[in-house]
Amino acid sequence: MVGALMLSAASRAEDCGSGVKLTLSAPEAAQGTLLLAQVRSTKPLGEVSGRWNDRDVPFWQEQAKEHSEPRADLRKALLGVDLEKAAGKYAFTVAVKLQGGEGVGCQAMVEVKEGHFATENLTVKKQFVEPNPEQEARAEAEMKRLREIYDHVTPDRLWDGPFRMPLDGEFKGSNFGKRRVLNGHPGSPHGGVDFPAPTGTPVHAAQKGRVVLAEELYFSGNTVLVDHGLGIYTFYCHFSEINAKVGDEVIAGTVLGKVGATGRVTGPHLHWGLEVEHARVNALELLKVLGGN
Ligand SMILES: [Zn+2]
Repeated sequence: MVGALMLSAASRAEDCGSGVKLTLSAPEAAQGTLLLAQVRSTKPLGEVSGRWNDRDVPFWQEQAKEHSEPRADLRKALLGVDLEKAAGKYAFTVAVKLQGGEGVGCQAMVEVKEGHFATENLTVKKQFVEPNPEQEARAEAEMKRLREIYDHVTPDRLWDGPFRMPLDGEFKGSNFGKRRVLNGHPGSPHGGVDFPAPTGTPVHAAQKGRVVLAEELYFSGNTVLVDHGLGIYTFYCHFSEINAKVGDEVIAGTVLGKVGATGRVTGPHLHWGLEVEHARVNALELLKVLGGN
C-alpha cells in the first residue's frame, strides 16, 4: 500500500504549464543525500533557475543527443540535502523563462527523512579535542576560508561525464554522518566518507574541475579541494603528500595526493567530502545520481 503510493509519487511530473514539466528523482530524501531535478520542455527554453534550502540552484543544459526530440530542451540540477537538515516537507521551486519572454513556474515537494547515523566513541590526540587558543584561532580561520570558497558558485559546469571513486581497487567507504564523541566530548557529525587505505595510496580527482585549495589545514591535515562548478565541491584530506596546486585544471583520475594520516585521525585513510550549494552530502551519492562507475 505505502510502496504503491510512493511509486506513483516518484514518477509524477509537476506540470508548470506551456509544455514545461518538472520531475525529481525521488519524492523523498534522507539527510546527506542528493536529488536530481529535471525540467523538460517541448520548446527551447531561456533561463531556468531553482530555489532550494534558501539558495539559488543552477541548472545545466543536456546536449540534444541525450533526449529524442531535437527541438526539445532538457535541464538538470542537483539538490543537496544537508546531513543535519531537519526532517520535514520542503518545496523546491523553479522559474522558467520561455524563449519569447513568457515565464512559468512550479514547485515540487520533497520529504526529508532522518538519516539514522551511528554514534561512535573515538580517541584522538588531545590537541584536536581541546586545542589551545592559537590552534583554535587557526582552525576557525580555516573554517571561515572554506565557507567563503563554498559561497562562490562557479556558473559553468566544469565536470563532464560520470564521477569516479577517488581510490583504485576494492576500498570500502564508511562513517558518513556518524555522530562522534571525541575523547568523551560530543563532536560535530562526520561530513565525509572514510576509506581506510595504506599510506601512499594515490588519490584521484573524482571528475573534471579546478583545484581551489591545496595545503595543510589544522583538522583535515594535507587537503585538496576541487571546484566542479555549479556550487559542487569535492574535498580530499589527511594526505601524506599533496600532488596538486591551486589553479590546476584536473580531469577524472588526476592524482591529487597520497593517502596519509595527517590532521585529526586515528590511522591512515582518505576522507572524501562533498558540498552541493553548502549542503554536506555523502560523496558516494554523486556516483549514484550521476551514473558513476
Ligand atoms: Zn573522515
